[in-house]
Amino acid sequence: MHTGETETDIQDTTGGRGEAAAARRERAVRAAVAEGLITDEQPVVGLLDVVGIRESAAALRTAFAAALPPGTPVLHAFAVKASPLVAVVRLLREEGVGAEVASPGELALARAAGMTADAIVLDSPAKTTAELREALDLGIAVNADNAQELARLDALVDGRGTASPLGIRVNPQTGTGSIGATSTATSTSKFGVALRDEGAREWLIDAYTRRPWLTRLHAHSGSQGVPLALSAEGIRALYELAEEINAAAGRRQIDTLDIGGGLPVNFASDEPTPGYAEYVRVLKEAVPGLFDGRYGLVTEFGRSLLAKHGTVLAKVEYTKSAGARPIAVTHAGVQVATRTVYVPQAWPLRIAVFDEKGEPRTGEPIAQDVAGPACFSGDLLATDRPLPRIEQGDVVAALDTGAYYFAHHYAYNSLPRPGVHGFTAPDDGPVSFATVRTPQTVEEIVAESGGAHRDALI
Ligand SMILES: *Cc1c(COP(=O)(O)O)cnc(C)c1O
Repeated sequence: MHTGETETDIQDTTGGRGEAAAARRERAVRAAVAEGLITDEQPVVGLLDVVGIRESAAALRTAFAAALPPGTPVLHAFAVKASPLVAVVRLLREEGVGAEVASPGELALARAAGMTADAIVLDSPAKTTAELREALDLGIAVNADNAQELARLDALVDGRGTASPLGIRVNPQTGTGSIGATSTATSTSKFGVALRDEGAREWLIDAYTRRPWLTRLHAHSGSQGVPLALSAEGIRALYELAEEINAAAGRRQIDTLDIGGGLPVNFASDEPTPGYAEYVRVLKEAVPGLFDGRYGLVTEFGRSLLAKHGTVLAKVEYTKSAGARPIAVTHAGVQVATRTVYVPQAWPLRIAVFDEKGEPRTGEPIAQDVAGPACFSGDLLATDRPLPRIEQGDVVAALDTGAYYFAHHYAYNSLPRPGVHGFTAPDDGPVSFATVRTPQTVEEIVAESGGAHRDALI
């Protein structure tokens, strides 16, 4: 599959993808407005570009397949937390992608999407014994986070063996990116066994040589804000450790390296950069041995597979001004863009403005605030942002919100989870929508807020 392509060919295939995606998005917005997807009852919705998601999955598969000897086992396990929606996981499964899960909920929704045990990896830092037992019963791969978890695995594996591929997660401690809260490879990160701490390396080598059933080694060293070269440095540390363990074991005990996810996303334009092919090039240069076919690979990309394919659309309820600053009060705020609202410097989002017919507004940009519906003053999608003048009844779009945004509802002010629609926009046909998630109703909000326990406290 695709192994005949050169790296240059692959890079070329990303050219124009951003422009085409922007054109699909504009058509989808127009159709969403025309079809009445945005109403008083549903003033905010999430849209997902099905073609874009398929393209990203294909780019991921192709980039690794082209760099590895044919037949090298590779599992691309989508980090479900980036878009915990059953239909999204299902679509990725159709595209040959598996699932990385980190909670009973994520495992259940991956299975609901049709993921089989051999396509699932369980990684959370706080797995209970019951979760571990279930994973081993199902034959799902598990990466132990720490020595105490490994002791639990000992007890579960002892005497009966396991069909699950098992490994240990290490933190290569290669340093922080520009966003502290999403940097996993800092010296004091809570994740994995801290590789550079005193005695850690020896402990790991001993742990593996005593346990023939430990056949994998895991690190997740990149994230938004981490340069590719720094991620690759973490993977090099992982590879070197695996070589050392295998030398100590006198055999190829570790047969698979799980290199995590964390490819950063470009939130500043429509171009899907950096691409997977670029990351593979950087990795191959830093860690050539990773690509010689001696190790199977697992990857766990999340944000980079989905971010650019999601759009939040929200109705502009009012426009006003305060202190000479024009403000558009919309229905999209902290409930769908939590990171951006609370940490705006780290997570800026592009905003596009459409009129009440869904046509892009093209007027002279003026600095405006784009506010959300929540009752605190910081509930802003954008501050002092040059945009065509926004009018009452317009629709604003928060772009690149396909990962960690509308799929990650934050229930402030009891605002409902919005509906999510997938769209396809073929060149030769109309835009069509499919429901991915129905909007939450006010009855559901009451029920989830303990409606059945009204008199519990009196
Ligand atoms: C979150 C996470 C990922 C995915 O990270 P992205 O930045 O979304 O690609 C992969 N692996 C693990 C263990 C994670 O926690």
